[in-house]
Amino acid sequence: MPEQKPDAVHHAQLEWRENGQPVSSTFDDIYFSTASGLEETRHVFLAENDLPERWSKLQHGARFTIGETGFGTGLNFLAAWQLWRQTAPASAQLHFVSVEKYPLRPDDLARALAMWPELHDLSRELLESYPPLLAAGVHRLSFSGGIHLTLIIDEASRGFERLLLDDPGRDRVIDAWFLDGFAPSKNPEMWSEELFQAIASLSAPQATFATFTCAGIVKRGLKSVGFALQKVPGFGRKREMLRGEYSLPLAQTPHRHHATPWHLPQSQPQSQPLSQSQVQPQRQGPQTVAVVGAGIAGATTARTLAERGLKVTVFEKGESPGSGASGNDQGILYAKLSPKPGPNGDFNLLALQFAQNFYPRLCPQAVHFDGLLQLAQSEKERQLQQQVVERLSLNGDSKLAQPVTASQASALAGVDLTAPGLYFPDAGWLRPRQVCSTLLQHPNIQTHFATTIHNATYADQQWQLETSEKTAQPGFDALILCSANFNRHFPQTAPLPLQPIRGQVSFAAITEASKKLKLALCGEGYIAPANSRDSQTTQSFGATFKLKQTDTGIRAEEHQENLQTLASLLPDIAGSFSGQTLQGRAALRAATPDYLPMAGPVADWEHLEDTYHSLRKNRKQLIDRRTPYQPHLYVLAGLGSRGFTYAPLAAEVLAGWIVGEVMPVSEELVKALHPMRFAIRALGKNRSITD
Ligand code: SAM
Repeated sequence: MPEQKPDAVHHAQLEWRENGQPVSSTFDDIYFSTASGLEETRHVFLAENDLPERWSKLQHGARFTIGETGFGTGLNFLAAWQLWRQTAPASAQLHFVSVEKYPLRPDDLARALAMWPELHDLSRELLESYPPLLAAGVHRLSFSGGIHLTLIIDEASRGFERLLLDDPGRDRVIDAWFLDGFAPSKNPEMWSEELFQAIASLSAPQATFATFTCAGIVKRGLKSVGFALQKVPGFGRKREMLRGEYSLPLAQTPHRHHATPWHLPQSQPQSQPLSQSQVQPQRQGPQTVAVVGAGIAGATTARTLAERGLKVTVFEKGESPGSGASGNDQGILYAKLSPKPGPNGDFNLLALQFAQNFYPRLCPQAVHFDGLLQLAQSEKERQLQQQVVERLSLNGDSKLAQPVTASQASALAGVDLTAPGLYFPDAGWLRPRQVCSTLLQHPNIQTHFATTIHNATYADQQWQLETSEKTAQPGFDALILCSANFNRHFPQTAPLPLQPIRGQVSFAAITEASKKLKLALCGEGYIAPANSRDSQTTQSFGATFKLKQTDTGIRAEEHQENLQTLASLLPDIAGSFSGQTLQGRAALRAATPDYLPMAGPVADWEHLEDTYHSLRKNRKQLIDRRTPYQPHLYVLAGLGSRGFTYAPLAAEVLAGWIVGEVMPVSEELVKALHPMRFAIRALGKNRSITD
């Protein structure tokens, strides 16, 4: 196999048989049995992991996690999903974690899945959500009915290692393994010692496995990490296959931290992995949560948790959802792709792809994802986009983003443009307030508007909230602060480095020139296409960016600033607006020093200092100790100007922390989004952690 750069992705090279079956040219092997791939999947992976029986015994709200080597065409995933629908309780959650080094291109996937008419509905959902850009790393895809696919594009062992948080209580999540892959004789590299080690690190106590092969390399590998093996009849003409169980209790997981575990709360609800003998125990994590804030951070958090069966109560000081920075008439789904690998660019790419699925699935009426253009107005920006195009191999066929010339951009936008750019066919604009209120409509969500939370205290294992209404509230198992800059009013989160950035957006009545605009456009500033509301048709453009300014009055000079910025992009449209008395709205975004959001738990500040103070002398030191965290206190904030792009995936990360399920992003990104990262960086620089 050719050696790959760490983030280069090689798509599957396929040949097609007459019956429509794909064959890998790289491995000269088939993806599934010619006799009947679907029947083989049911026999080898579903039945031999005892899934029909285990799933029919699951309790309300249970969670079950499958791990797979080799996602391929997704046939195993779809067959498992179909069985889940037939056997598991409707409220249960299925996580399917699969690693794939050579992902199929979307068109090939569609062609391969066309072989299975009985899976048609599920295939369609998979195809709609399949990442348009299959970058190396961890992709989360969520579907209706509590189905979550974590698709890792990487070499198998390294892919699974990306998930390890260095905490057996969290890492050992997989209840059943589908050890698929091409025949070990054709692909011995995959079945490495590192792969078996990673499988063991991710296995819940009593996790089961099933595999089509009985090859010695697989038997030895599984045995060496602690699996008990059994040979059973294979499918069709295959005489034998292997199945078995992992039996290492959680407490005996060999463990030493590889890096200072500052990100891991000392006392944390342990995830409750399932086992064959012990069907889903009662959920031990929080059951009731209070969310403070009903902007996009609070709305995505509430919805994500409600869908997992938690009872969520949302408190908002404004009169309605989206009354702060998430309350403009029109919002743009903007992400900044990066020419370099790293957490910022990676998160932007993954969050954009997740958001492009999230909103159309949950609030289709509020989104207009019919295209967005990011124009490169300066030479520097053109060079950057060119580097992005090269790094991500974007071309005219790319489903995520395509480079376009100024004339191609003009044809797409319906107006004359002078700059080239990137065209995102499945991004666009949305109605922020409608998005927030639609997300909050769920039977597990209660809302309280015009209610300010003044104080929160933890007593008797519950968060008690002091509200402006002074009406008694019940206690909550967990508290999640999603109130942007207002999070700093709470002593528990006051040291988080959130800073306000004032932004004013302008609204103009449409004109002959402006109504031709068909797409959301951004460059320096942005403009959305015509938006009809309350019998008026307006267009939003903006927005200003005033660091540390906290008043929200409308300023005439900021309307002028928005018009000037628009004039550099679309002089005719800006000219046609200039005679109008513009309307507008100003609000405060909350940003972090590194412009990535914070999503995760909050430490006890004093203990953090005590536990890790020696990082002040040597920031690279490994301190093999955890520090106490504030009990069940979480934050999602710092979304800056990209709230609608970042919030859905950031909320998914938060759900990973709260319910103990497999994380939707790599360990590297979990840390890059962790609210305590700034305090740890401050210690390393010998600075105060609470300033
Ligand atoms: N489970 C698949 C399905 O339902 O369609 C079929 C899997 S196919 C037999 C084997 C898969 O393993 C291929 O998609 C192949 O690209 C992938 N693969 C091969 N070597 C790999 C490696 N070292 N790491 C990760 N995936 C690998």
